[in-house]
Amino acid sequence: SSNTYDVIIIGAGAAGLMCAATAGYRGRRVLVLDHANKPGKKILMSGGGRCNFTNLNSTPANFLSGNPHYCISALKRYTPQDFVELMDRHGVEYEEKAPGQLFCRDSAKDVLNVLLTECEWACAEVRMETSVNKVTENEDGYRLATSAGELTCESLVVATGGLSIPTMGATGFGYDIARQFGLEVLPTRAGLVPFTLHPELKQQLAPLSGVSCPVDAHCHEHHFREPMLVTHRGLSGPAMLQVSSYWQPGDEVHINLLPAQKIQEDLLALRKDKPQSTLAQYLNQHLPKRFAQAFNELQGWQGPLQECRNADIEQVAHTLGDWTIKPAGTEGYRTAEVTLGGVDTRQLSSKTMAVKERPNLFFIGEVVDVTGHLGGHNFQWAWASGVAAGNEA
Ligand code: FAD
Repeated sequence: SSNTYDVIIIGAGAAGLMCAATAGYRGRRVLVLDHANKPGKKILMSGGGRCNFTNLNSTPANFLSGNPHYCISALKRYTPQDFVELMDRHGVEYEEKAPGQLFCRDSAKDVLNVLLTECEWACAEVRMETSVNKVTENEDGYRLATSAGELTCESLVVATGGLSIPTMGATGFGYDIARQFGLEVLPTRAGLVPFTLHPELKQQLAPLSGVSCPVDAHCHEHHFREPMLVTHRGLSGPAMLQVSSYWQPGDEVHINLLPAQKIQEDLLALRKDKPQSTLAQYLNQHLPKRFAQAFNELQGWQGPLQECRNADIEQVAHTLGDWTIKPAGTEGYRTAEVTLGGVDTRQLSSKTMAVKERPNLFFIGEVVDVTGHLGGHNFQWAWASGVAAGNEA
């Protein structure tokens, strides 16, 4: 009947739409359901409106998961190059902004249009403003009680995404379905998110709001050499977003403010060659002026280098090379790009994304406990996991 499908996918986001087209091309009768008024809202807001849709250098090392091997198979079978070929077939123009990071030249709309066109060509139906109230098993699959009446399917794919940006339609519904069918859901928390600071440091850094500088930041030995940005709320920029995914409350974050410099050697040489020069002058050469000035004031560094003892110089080098802060927290799901944790992969097949004990129930995309680094890796996981499930559902 018209209410019966081979495959129903909950969530018309990156992973759900990719899965829908893939299953549709196999001749499966596919329906994508979503409670939002428009599909792919996160695609549209991603990458500052230009969607960093993949990363040419993506490897399994770019992902966090309680089960780091889980993502390998799907990522190997659907590569960044495969997605680039899809963009090329549709004539989408893109550019490599940072090494490996591909962004649309014009607009993230181009990526969403490719996915919707593919769904159309594959005869996969996308139905918006439809909420799913209840999922139950029946003998040949699943029955869904929805705001559009009762629907049944042989295979059910959960692609409801994570909890970040609740105003964009994020819900924990996918986790509820997982629990309903006996799966573990690992604790979730915000990832790729700016840090907030304790009042004292926040006040000290306030004059630096808007200043960005390249750093090497690390937390639990996960290093990221990217720009850091001071904001009126705390610390942000790619380096801080990356580190935030490894950070737990109470942890320290270590920041090398001059990663390209050999600080101690530089200062010893300067003291010898130009004994009258100051630390402020050295900092001015290597950091944005405003940052150098404020940091110098923060540390209370004064006087010419000739007055510094070796131990002082060692101390200064340490402060600059390993500036250690204890964030107060993060901005949370309100601004986080991703959700860490989620459906435990140990109960899923890494080849098909199906529940091992339940081969017609699939979990794909961000709802799963696989989270990428900043730089296009999260979409690459959405595409790869979507294709893996779409080939099987
Ligand atoms: P989503 O794309 O979030 O889709 C989930 C869908 O499920 C949504 O349409 C939602 O409405 C629907 N849904 C949720 N609950 C229900 C329910 N109960 N019933 C029905 N439907 C439901 N990643 C990158 O790789 N590159 C980037 O440039 C990038 N930029 C980002 C910028 C921002 C501001 C944010 C927030 C994220 C960004 N990301 C980026 C991350 C990326 O957007 C996500 O990892 C990706 O969208 C996950 O895809 P998904 O299909 O699993 O979930």
